[in-house]
Amino acid sequence: MHEVERPEGSQQRYSKVLPMGLRDMLRQVLPGDVRYWLRTIYNHRNLVGRGRFNLGYCVICERQTMFVWEGVYLRDHYRCVRCWSIPRWRAVIQVLNLCYPGWRDLSIFESSPGGMGSEQLKRECVRYVPSHFWPGIEPGTVFRGVRCEDLTRLTFPDDSFDVVVTQDVFEHVLRPERAFSEVARVLRSGGSHVFTVPFSRDHRTFVRAEMTPAGLQYLARPEYHGNPINDEGALVVTEWGDDLVDFIRRHSHLDTEIYNIHDRRLGLDGEYLDVFVSRKRNGS
Ligand SMILES: [Zn+2]
Repeated sequence: MHEVERPEGSQQRYSKVLPMGLRDMLRQVLPGDVRYWLRTIYNHRNLVGRGRFNLGYCVICERQTMFVWEGVYLRDHYRCVRCWSIPRWRAVIQVLNLCYPGWRDLSIFESSPGGMGSEQLKRECVRYVPSHFWPGIEPGTVFRGVRCEDLTRLTFPDDSFDVVVTQDVFEHVLRPERAFSEVARVLRSGGSHVFTVPFSRDHRTFVRAEMTPAGLQYLARPEYHGNPINDEGALVVTEWGDDLVDFIRRHSHLDTEIYNIHDRRLGLDGEYLDVFVSRKRNGS
């Protein structure tokens, strides 16, 4: 027996199940694609063995892929094995593909980006402007390399963007009526606010907290979601219900369509998969 140099990283795992010689032979005779799929199936063998997968096309990594689900809550656990994206990120990109097929050449503003969908916008859209909100930082200035913007008083001129994207942001915004109005102001005619938000058709909108002249008032027990820029999390201000579309029309005059696409071939399934498209009419 002579010493064989062991490759680093994931390759090393196969040496545990395949004799070295067989592994090297497979590497020589199998095309890269086949090797990739064998490795992928092996890495997810627990899920594949239980039938918790399907093949399809991921609109974020733009390739044939396999989707796997680890838990019953698909919204967070139905992943593309190539880019590890979740359904709502894929849903936003799919709706952009449908409504604005040329989005890569448009001007897109995204407030509070996070996840693989935002990464794709940043990578592929040349006129993509991301922002985060930090209390105490002057809106319109750059902080930690990112523009600071308050959705309720944006510093952009009127008619600045073709598309505004927000992904699970509007449940956290205090004074959401101002934010919807501001989004409409910075959109060009024919442009749209494309967004996701936890939303239920089964109840009316429920406000959990509001800003008053006396300060922040809690109307329900404080609840928080993860926040990409703050470990304390983001306070849930509003649980949106079936009057959301009317609320948007009342405060921004935008007309909203709701896309609810469930298609396992695109890895689109799960809870709260609605994508809202609030369009600014031409000439308005
Ligand atoms: Zn993917």
